[in-house]
Amino acid sequence: MVSSDYERRIAARFAVFDQDGNGYIDRADFGVAAKSLLAEFGTAARSDKGQALYAGAEAFWQGMAGIADRDGDQRITREEFVDGAVKRLRDNPDRFAEIARPFLHAALSVADTDDDGSATVDDTARVLRVLGAGEDAARAVAAALDTDGDGVVAEADIVPAFARYFTVTE
Ligand code: CA
Ligand code: CA
Repeated sequence: MVSSDYERRIAARFAVFDQDGNGYIDRADFGVAAKSLLAEFGTAARSDKGQALYAGAEAFWQGMAGIADRDGDQRITREEFVDGAVKRLRDNPDRFAEIARPFLHAALSVADTDDDGSATVDDTARVLRVLGAGEDAARAVAAALDTDGDGVVAEADIVPAFARYFTVTE
C-alpha cells in the first residue's frame, strides 16, 4: 500500500515541528520556535509579547500532545504525528487552527514591531520562514493572503491559512 500524497505531506510537516531535529516532537521544540521568533524580531523573552509567545507555544504543545501523543510519553514520534494529524485533524480540520491560534496570534504580535496592529506580507513570510517553512512556501502563503495587494494581511486569514499549510494539502 503506497501512502497517500496527503500522508506524505503531513509527514514532511513533521520536520517543521521537530525544530531541534532530534527525531521527535516535544515541548522543547515549541520553546525553540518561540526563541527563534523572538531572536528574529529582536524581542525580549521577558516582554509582554515574549511571555505571550511562550504561553502560546505551551498551549500549542499541549494541544498537539493531546491529539497525537497516544502513549503519553510526552514525545510525538513521526508515526504518532502522521496518525494523529492525518486521522484526527482530517476529521476535525478546525481543531488545528484552534490549538495553534494563541501561538500564532502572539507570533504575529511579535512580528508587528511598529505596533500598528497588522502584519505585513513580509512580516508574515518571516514568521513562516523562522518556523521552518521553505522560502517559496512562506512567500506564497503570505502573498496569497494579501488578496487586495496592499501589502497587509489580516490575522483572521493567517490562522486558517497556517492550519491549511500544516494539515491539509490543497
Ligand atoms: Ca524535537
Ligand atoms: Ca508518544
